[in-house]
Amino acid sequence: MKLFKTLIATVFACALLASPVYAESCCVKAKAKGKACEHKCCVTAHKDAKLCEKCQTDANNCCDKAIAAGKECTHKCCVAASKDSKVCEKCNPEKKEDKKN
Ligand SMILES: [Zn+2]
Ligand SMILES: [Zn+2]
Ligand SMILES: [Zn+2]
Ligand SMILES: [Zn+2]
Repeated sequence: MKLFKTLIATVFACALLASPVYAESCCVKAKAKGKACEHKCCVTAHKDAKLCEKCQTDANNCCDKAIAAGKECTHKCCVAASKDSKVCEKCNPEKKEDKKN
């Protein structure tokens, strides 16, 4: 049954990788405070106008994309949030997995 166990482990690993991580990135959080993210990985990625593959896991995140391009996100909701030094919760929803009710 060794093969079967390996198969299960592989499927499980794939499922973990496939699950999307919807949480605000370190870069978005830093941006909300009017700062630039100081993570080495992020600084390096942003120099090349790229997303940090480690921290900015959602390639479709409007704010992460804007940060990578060295721009401000133009979404109304994000602009309004950044005025209050907040992260836009609509585009950067909090991770809900860890919540215990
Ligand atoms: Zn970052
Ligand atoms: Zn990073
Ligand atoms: Zn945005
Ligand atoms: Zn938004």
